[in-house]
Amino acid sequence: MITDNEDHMEQDHTITDPLDHYLPYDLNTLKALNTDNGESRRVYSYALYCQLGQNPELLCCAYCEFSFEDHIHWKFLSLDHVVPRNAAERLGISKDLWDSGINLVFCCRACNDYNQYSPKNPFKALPYIPEPGVSPKAFLRLRKDTFPHRLRHIIDSTRADQQCFNTLWAGNSVNDSEQG
Ligand SMILES: [Zn+2]
Repeated sequence: MITDNEDHMEQDHTITDPLDHYLPYDLNTLKALNTDNGESRRVYSYALYCQLGQNPELLCCAYCEFSFEDHIHWKFLSLDHVVPRNAAERLGISKDLWDSGINLVFCCRACNDYNQYSPKNPFKALPYIPEPGVSPKAFLRLRKDTFPHRLRHIIDSTRADQQCFNTLWAGNSVNDSEQG
């Protein structure tokens, strides 16, 4: 069964990479962003969100457009490294790049949890494995190519979750609520 939400996500051509808003690509400006100073939502997220220009008129997840319109929803706000840290570090990519605004998007915790890391295949989250000695330009290309790859994984994972929910959970919801 496909829900309205999945139909929406399936039209992923309507979901644009937040990086496309950064015009021009100013690596130095983005590298200056500092996310080391504490708790993401309260400490730096607002300023960073504005700097990234991510959906400037609407606070929402970069992948599924879950809205952070009020406090309850905002509690699900998280910061995603598009090229994951573990893959970047194995490739010898500097922290200035993988932890910079180039590589960050705000998303909901559910999408962030769809992690593709596996010890057997640490590069599963990447669409390809770049040559060693990744230059800033090559990293930017990898980052741009990884976003749609990750979006596809999130869409597939969401569909699998939906099927699980429909099969195992939805039919039990009335009994659960009656039991309080
Ligand atoms: Zn999401």
